[in-house]
Amino acid sequence: MNNLTRVLRITYRNVRLTSTAIIQNVVYADLEESRTPLSDAMHIHIQPTRPCNFRGGQFVYLRFPHLGWNSIFQTHPFYVSWSYKDKQGGDIGVCIVEKKRGFTKQLALVDTVTGGSNKPVKVKVLIEGPYGKRLPVERHQNILLFATGIGIAGLTSVVGEVFQNRHQHQHRQAAGRITLFWELNTGRHIAWASDFWGELLTQDVDRKLRIEIYIKDDESRIQIPGARVQVHRKEMPVEQLIQSEMRSNKGSTLMCVCARDAICVRVRGAAADYPDRLLDLKELEFRPGTQKTSG
Ligand SMILES: Cc1cc2nc3c(=O)[nH]c(=O)nc-3n(C[C@H](O)[C@H](O)[C@H](O)COP(=O)(O)OP(=O)(O)OC[C@H]3O[C@@H](n4cnc5c(N)ncnc54)[C@H](O)[C@@H]3O)c2cc1C
Repeated sequence: MNNLTRVLRITYRNVRLTSTAIIQNVVYADLEESRTPLSDAMHIHIQPTRPCNFRGGQFVYLRFPHLGWNSIFQTHPFYVSWSYKDKQGGDIGVCIVEKKRGFTKQLALVDTVTGGSNKPVKVKVLIEGPYGKRLPVERHQNILLFATGIGIAGLTSVVGEVFQNRHQHQHRQAAGRITLFWELNTGRHIAWASDFWGELLTQDVDRKLRIEIYIKDDESRIQIPGARVQVHRKEMPVEQLIQSEMRSNKGSTLMCVCARDAICVRVRGAAADYPDRLLDLKELEFRPGTQKTSG
């Protein structure tokens, strides 16, 4: 896409520079109910000035003018993990942002050294997008998802879309089962999306959604968002999981991956055993790196 098209899209989405974002700490609750802000991730609630229908697997580019004179030239992509309407009926998209060393560190409210602020902050934002192909969730009877670390940000919206379709009764026959496998370095990262997952599990009266979490080497005593979430203390056994899911799935399966390189390679290898009409593999644009444990 050329620069002029990008400028026009930004201008359309952010008339008079009034799009806003609320930056909020992600808070995790342990088994003793004590709530602690995470220092390695935040939620950004973006409110475009124009109506915006965020779809599963789509992302936006964000620029934050308050971060300094050159910040307008820095644009960073983030998935819109879920969306909701505000009291006035405006669309709000929520991005889960993992803190890295550059722009995301400047944006973070919690500082590992000083503790930082625990209050949500409202700022101006330039939003470009949404971009990214829609995934054909309505064409398949089963949805199989593989995420590692912050890859969950991309896949959460895919599940949200399946639930929305069901709710609107548009695709009653579609997506019999939805299974998410998510590998993490620390159990505290469950908090990145636990409120939203908890809500989906409550809505899931047919018990079609199953979540399996693999935590490699961590003993954190975090609250799990529902009795149907299983936690394993080991690496994700990708090939075994795909074989067992494909044995029990009836009809076709859409498999989406937003994971680190090594897992993508293993998923592709295991998927090659099945014909396209049974297994449709989609990899999201973003590959989360190998995760570090912090916060
Ligand atoms: C399509 C897409 C969707 C994404 N969605 C999410 C998401 O939902 N949540 C999330 O936490 N992260 C997401 N990311 C990654 C996120 O864009 C980067 O982590 C962020 O831009 C890093 O900013 P930084 O300056 O703090 O990074 P740095 O500490 O400078 O670098 C950390 C890593 O981020 C990469 N990076 C730096 N700047 C950019 C940029 N402008 N565009 C792409 N990569 C960059 C670097 O190559 C490096 O690998 C996504 C990336 C892509 C391509």
